[in-house]
Formats: sequence, structure tokens, C-alpha cells
Amino acid sequence: MPYAYDDQNIFAKILRGEIPCKKVHETERSLAFHDINPQAPTHVLVIPKGAYVNYDHFALEASAEEIVDFTRCVGEVAKMLGHPESEGGNGYRILSNAGPDAHQEVPHLHIHIFGGAFLGRMVS
Ligand code: 5GP
Repeated sequence: MPYAYDDQNIFAKILRGEIPCKKVHETERSLAFHDINPQAPTHVLVIPKGAYVNYDHFALEASAEEIVDFTRCVGEVAKMLGHPESEGGNGYRILSNAGPDAHQEVPHLHIHIFGGAFLGRMVS
């Protein structure tokens, strides 16, 4: 089963309210919160509320409503934190790790949004 989902992962527990998080934004189908171990001055994680392991699982199997909601939630947080015309910063970086080769630690889809400082060049 390529997309087996373990509902004991830490983000599933956050969604069920079993462990706390520092919430940034919430929509009907998505949640954004601060990373517990930030790798930039601003480091927010955005997750869908549905049980999806990674980006391809979500993109290929989620409903159109979930995809629109999640995409908009990522956009709203990015604009809040790093849009040149906002007060949050002057740019941002979006990243999602999937599987062991990418060192995915939590098996529930999450988009990292980094910002709040000059992040340097990642891909030339
Ligand atoms: P990954 O390596 O899977 O892309 O990233 C997982 C992220 O989740 C890491 O940046 C890690 O710091 C964060 N994280 C792990 N456990 C928790 C937690 O309990 N709460 C929060 N807010 N973030 C967590």
C-alpha cells in the first residue's frame, strides 16, 4: 500500500488537539503553526486536515475542495509572512520533504515556509 497513513504521527495528534501547537492560521481543511525547531526567523508548517502522507498523495487523491483550501492556506500564510508589501518580511521559501531520501521526519504532508531573513541562494 503506497500511501499507508499512520494516525499516531505528531501532526495527527496536533490536529486532534492531543498536543499543543502555536497556531498561525486555520481554514476549514488546513492548519498552519510554528515549527517547534525553527530553521529561520520565521518557520511555519502548513498541513491539510485530511490524512495524507506527502505531497503526491495529496495532489493525486485529495478532493478539489481540499486542494483549493490547502493551496490558499499556504498562500495566505506566505503573504502574511513574506510578501514584499506586507510587514512580515521581504520574501519566503516553500519546501516539502517526502520520504527517506528527503529526510521526511513526520509522515503527514507539511509545507515548510521559511522567511524573516535573507535566506541565500538554494538552487543556482
Ligand atoms: P520534515 O523533516 O518531516 O520535513 O519536517 C518535520 C518538521 O516538524 C521539523 O522541522 C520539526 O522541527 C517539526 N516538528 C516535529 N515535531 C513537532 C512538534 O511536536 N510540533 C511542531 N510544531 N513541530 C514539530
